[in-house]
Amino acid sequence: MKNYHTHTKRCYHAIDNEEDYILAAIKSGYSELGFSDHTPWHYDSSFHSTMRMEEDKLEGYVNTLLGLREKYKNQISIKIGLECEYFEKYIPWLKKTLKNYPIDYIILGNHFDDTDETGIYFGRPLTQQQLTKYVDNCIKAIHSGLYSYVAHPDLACYKTDDPFYYQEMKRLCLAAKEANMPLEFNLLGYSTNRHYPNTTFFKIAKEVGNKVIIGTDAHESSALLDMQTYQQAKALLEQMGLELTEEIKFLR
Ligand SMILES: [Zn+2]
Ligand SMILES: [Zn+2]
Repeated sequence: MKNYHTHTKRCYHAIDNEEDYILAAIKSGYSELGFSDHTPWHYDSSFHSTMRMEEDKLEGYVNTLLGLREKYKNQISIKIGLECEYFEKYIPWLKKTLKNYPIDYIILGNHFDDTDETGIYFGRPLTQQQLTKYVDNCIKAIHSGLYSYVAHPDLACYKTDDPFYYQEMKRLCLAAKEANMPLEFNLLGYSTNRHYPNTTFFKIAKEVGNKVIIGTDAHESSALLDMQTYQQAKALLEQMGLELTEEIKFLR
C-alpha cells in the first residue's frame, strides 16, 4: 500500500510532524509514503499565504525527510514531494526549485486560478468561464510534464448534472488519459463529505478509461490509520469498474 498525498504542520492547517505520519503509515502497513505538503511560491508581491509552508522552510522540510528516510529505511520507503498549483508565471521558479532540491515528485493541487495573490479559489461555486479556466489550467499542468498526478481533480465546484460539467471534465479526463496520468480519489473529501470526490466525475473517468489513485490527503497523522475509509473507497471504485493504480512517475 502506498500514499503520496501527505501534509505536515508546516502548511499551518495540518497538524503533526513528519515522523508522526511515518509512524502511522508503518503501523498501517504502508510500504511507501510520499509527503506532498503545500509548496511555497516565490511571489512578486508582498502577498503572504497562510495555507502553505514559507519559502525559507522548504530546506528544513526536505532535510527532515532525508533524515527520516534514512532512519526508517528498513521499515518504509519515503518519498519527498510537494502539492503545487499551476501558477504559470511562477513555473520557472518551480522548475528551478525542483532542480535545487532532491524532490522526487509533485502532484497538482489546482486550488487557485492564476496565483493565490489574486485568483479565485476553484472549490467555490464556479461560473462556466471559471470551470473552463480550471480545466485549462489542469491541462496545461498535465502537458508540462512536471506533475505525477492530479489531486482532487473534481475540486472544481459546478452543477454535476449540467451537460457543461460533463463536457469540461471530459476534456480533463482525456488529457490525463493521453498523458497516462492517474486521477486521485481524495480520501479527505470523501471522509468529510465535501463536494469532491463526486460520482459524476468518476463516471466520466470510467468512460474515458482513466487510472485512479487513492490519495489520503492526510492533514493529521491519524488519517493514515483510518483503514476503514480507505477500504470503503477502494470497494466503491472497484464496484464502479475503475482501474486503480499505486504507480506514479518520479522526477528522479
Ligand atoms: Zn489540495
Ligand atoms: Zn492536499
